[in-house]
Amino acid sequence: MDCCSQPGLLSVHDALLRMHQQLTPVQEAEWVELAFALDRVLAESVLASINVPAGDNSAMDGYALRTGDAQTEGAVFDVIGQSLAGHPFRFTEQEGVQSALGKMQVVRIMTGAMIPGGADAVVMQENVTRTAQTLHLNKLVVQGENIRRAGDDIKKGSEVLSKGHRISALDIGLLASLGIARIKVWRKLRIAVLSTGDELLSLGSTHDEDKIYDSNRPLLCALLQRLNVEIKDIGIIADDLLGLRAAFMRAAQWADVVISTGGVSVGDADYTKTILEELGQIDFWKVAMKPGKPFAFGRLGAGWFFGLPGNPVSTAVTYHQLVVPAVRYLAGEKSVESVQLNAIAKQSFKKHPGRMDFQRGVLASEQGVNTVVSAGSQSSGVLSSMAKANCYIRLEAERGTVLPGETVTVIPFDSFIR
Ligand code: AMP
Ligand code: MG
Repeated sequence: MDCCSQPGLLSVHDALLRMHQQLTPVQEAEWVELAFALDRVLAESVLASINVPAGDNSAMDGYALRTGDAQTEGAVFDVIGQSLAGHPFRFTEQEGVQSALGKMQVVRIMTGAMIPGGADAVVMQENVTRTAQTLHLNKLVVQGENIRRAGDDIKKGSEVLSKGHRISALDIGLLASLGIARIKVWRKLRIAVLSTGDELLSLGSTHDEDKIYDSNRPLLCALLQRLNVEIKDIGIIADDLLGLRAAFMRAAQWADVVISTGGVSVGDADYTKTILEELGQIDFWKVAMKPGKPFAFGRLGAGWFFGLPGNPVSTAVTYHQLVVPAVRYLAGEKSVESVQLNAIAKQSFKKHPGRMDFQRGVLASEQGVNTVVSAGSQSSGVLSSMAKANCYIRLEAERGTVLPGETVTVIPFDSFIR
């Protein structure tokens, strides 16, 4: 047996795979206005019903002309009119001209304005000398110069965004450019969150030195907001059978997903396991990860249950690494891999082979090279160091202590661009 196949320990990869095999994504779709579409997941692919841009238009302020007329420096042209953005040049208003520029004719044109018929280039205004009615060319013109072609950005009929894609702010701009006012998305997941433990105090209660404030629930509710789900805060549930049973049943009646923290490790007063085994089909896993070994997953009522370890750092790590991929899949999202980068360790990171570590680090760039240091204490109870971190340092299960200068994999937090 090698270092990483201890009996009873499930690798992170296998835990993700097992969940994936059981979960089925939400099936109900609804229409939303584009203004409310941020972070929703597309229930059908979006095709372009128009070309963007709709017609050939100018990329510069200048003059639209026929390249054939512009092959000698100093050529002199007649300015026969103008084409402004939203107000194209109309030949019918011009005496003697039908639908295309005549020889040595140009049209004054502004950025975004339609190219008049017959023109095949735009000369920048910096490259001409203008008098009232004429134009002297100071530079030769290449065919197609400064013209943005119809459909250059998006071709009519092409797939713009695919089913299962989560809508970003940029996507909203893109969809708006196509005139799309509403999109079909999967309904939001309903997620209930609760904390278990007799030692927990809710916010607003007087400090008591025998107890600790419940940090997991506010943390999870905040993290879940980033997934744009409906959240129900079930509160703190004491470690007693009746209270836990009632709380889990209430949560499961409403939710697609119930997330609880605490009570998944084997502790004297932890009744969650007993209750969950009675109410659902839940597996209690020991996942080969650090922090966060105990983890529960399975069916609770018609929905799904995730039981996370109580230490706040373990809660955050198991949430990010195990719950987020599962929830995104349930939400109908297709691609859920987080970006991973290589970084050079600036210090050593203590580790024993056996479990996959998600240490908390500070990623920086030094002369274009990614570097990473520890964010401080790596204890699973110490949230203050994690709050200083901007990435996970993901160390492979079989790896031992990392020495300075070695390359490690980092997974950036969400603070890099908004
Ligand atoms: P448990 O998983 O219930 O054995 O809890 C493990 C550790 O996490 C204990 O020290 C608990 O006091 C702590 N803990 C459990 N739940 C919370 C919570 N909601 N907020 C902060 N700490 C917690
Ligand atoms: Mg507990």
